[in-house]
Amino acid sequence: MPSRNGFAESGTEKIDLTNLTPAELESFIQHLGKERFRARQLIKWIYRAGCRDIGEMTNLSQEFRKELGRIARVGFLPVETIQVSADGTKKALFRLADGETVETVLIQEKNHWTVCVSTQAGCAMGCTFCLTGASGFRRDLLPSEIAGQVTALRFGTPEGPSIKNVVLMGMGEPLLNYDNTLKAIDIMTSDTGLGISKRRVTVSTCGIAPMIRRLGEDLPVNLALSLNAPDDDTRDRLMPINRKYPLAEVLGACRDYPMPLRRRITMEYILIKDVNDSPEDAEKLARMVKNVRCKFNLIAFNEHPGCDFKTSPPERVDAFRDILVKHNYTAVVRKSKGRDILAACGQLRGRS
Ligand code: SF4
Repeated sequence: MPSRNGFAESGTEKIDLTNLTPAELESFIQHLGKERFRARQLIKWIYRAGCRDIGEMTNLSQEFRKELGRIARVGFLPVETIQVSADGTKKALFRLADGETVETVLIQEKNHWTVCVSTQAGCAMGCTFCLTGASGFRRDLLPSEIAGQVTALRFGTPEGPSIKNVVLMGMGEPLLNYDNTLKAIDIMTSDTGLGISKRRVTVSTCGIAPMIRRLGEDLPVNLALSLNAPDDDTRDRLMPINRKYPLAEVLGACRDYPMPLRRRITMEYILIKDVNDSPEDAEKLARMVKNVRCKFNLIAFNEHPGCDFKTSPPERVDAFRDILVKHNYTAVVRKSKGRDILAACGQLRGRS
């Protein structure tokens, strides 16, 4: 049975059922002496109907609802605000039980929506181009707070039913909140949970090499590496984590990451004027990753107050892409979405 204290909200002592994976929920219900199918009914109410009140789960007996309601609750994340960008991107601000705030971005694709989910409040990694990093680390999010961003948007917004992709690329470093992130992915991808396909979940990391290897062993979902540099000197300057896990180590972990034949690791590369965007940088980059099955997402840096870096001009970004393509890589220039509402890459802060 899952630890009650581990999931109880301070003051209430009630277990938040949305912190449990479907398998944990089943064993919890069985521990209460109920049949497994009761757990399935309960899970359906939470993740298929978006029901938050145990008393309203009408196919459970009244007696069981009362018993369960005494010891457990169904947590939810209240959306504090939703901002809409001129390009249709939406940014939700969630207020957590302790008053902490995190942001989640909804990005419109052709026929569906992608949710960019946060895994920590703030971030300790201190990447010098990132506004989230500048605000420092506040705390890890619980499984209920990670998966809960998707649940809240699925049931609380008109776009909800069209959410098909999840990228763990918002605030925080998911691989430093590993156990909670994996539980949240389980909740999101389980058939009895939110039912999102595992193939449509991407974990993005700044390069915690040993944890990339561990993820590959535990749950090889899609992987994105925030790469951003063609050599250690440049990366040391942009991403302090590189001093701990230099490129050879990170790329080694990427090379060994298990993937189906046609799958590729996404290398995210933010182009910063005169820092990492020269044709020589592109040539170096192409050589550097030659043993890794990967593709490139190129994003021109989003300028923001308090950061001296400048965005790379469009012709420079295109030339960079062309060099990678010449070396037979798939390289796509991503248009930064939601820039006007600070919802673009590296702009999330979790404050209204
Ligand atoms: S880029 Fe990612 S890892 Fe780096 S500071 Fe920002 S949120 Fe953290």
